[in-house]
Amino acid sequence: MINVAIDGPAGAGKSTIAKAAAKELGFIYVDTGALYRTIALNAVRSNAIDSTEAIVSLLEKTDVKLGYDNGMQRVYLNGEDVSDFIRTPEISMGASRVSAIPEVRAFLLELQRDIARNNNVIMDGRDIGTVVLPDAQCKIFLFASPECRAERRYKELIEKGENVRYEDVLEDVNQRDYQDSHREIAPLKPTEESIMADTSKLSLEESIELIINIIKENM
Ligand code: C5P
Repeated sequence: MINVAIDGPAGAGKSTIAKAAAKELGFIYVDTGALYRTIALNAVRSNAIDSTEAIVSLLEKTDVKLGYDNGMQRVYLNGEDVSDFIRTPEISMGASRVSAIPEVRAFLLELQRDIARNNNVIMDGRDIGTVVLPDAQCKIFLFASPECRAERRYKELIEKGENVRYEDVLEDVNQRDYQDSHREIAPLKPTEESIMADTSKLSLEESIELIINIIKENM
C-alpha cells in the first residue's frame, strides 16, 4: 500500500489540497482532524470539555468510525453521522484541547493505522509522519504564514454563514499553532525526511500541482 503523510498547521490548505491530490491519484483521503473534532463534539455535548478526566472517561462509551460516501469522508459518533457538526470554531478549539490528552491519541491511533494498512491513502493531520505512519513512503509538511492561513479560514467560515471576525480567526490560528506545537505528546513538527511545502504565495491550483508532483516523485 502507498501511504502519504501530510502534516502541517491549521489552515494551510491541507484538507483541500490532500483531497484533490487523492482524487487525482485514486487514493483514499483521510482527514484525521475530523476524528479529534468528533471526540471534542462528544465532550461538548456531554459537558465534559473542561475536564480531562471526564473526557477520558467518556472514551469507554465512545465509538468513532470513518466511512466514505461518494468519495467524501464521513465520520460517525456512536453510529450517528456527525460530519456536519464538527466544523465550528468551538469544536476547532475543543479538538485542539482533546488532542493534547494521551488517552485520546491512543484511542484514535489504531483506527488511523488500520485504514492505511488496507488502502492507498493520503492522510492529513499533525503527527502522521512522526507517529501514525512512520513508514509512509512520502511525508510532506505543508505550511503557510499565520496571516495567510487566518485569511483563508476566515473566508471559509464566512462562506458557510458563520459570524466571525478576522482578528478572532487569526488569534485562534496562533493559539492553536501554539497548543499543537508545544504539547508534550505528538507535537506538530516535520520529520527529518519531510518535504517542506510553503503555500503562502501559491494559488490553490499551484499548491495542488506541487503536492501531486512531490507525491509522484516519492511513491
Ligand atoms: O486539522 P483540523 O483543524 O481539523 O484538526 C483539529 C485539531 O485536531 C487540531 O488543531 C489538532 O489539535 C488536532 N489534530 C491532532 N492530530 C491530528 C489531526 C488533528 O492533534 N492528526
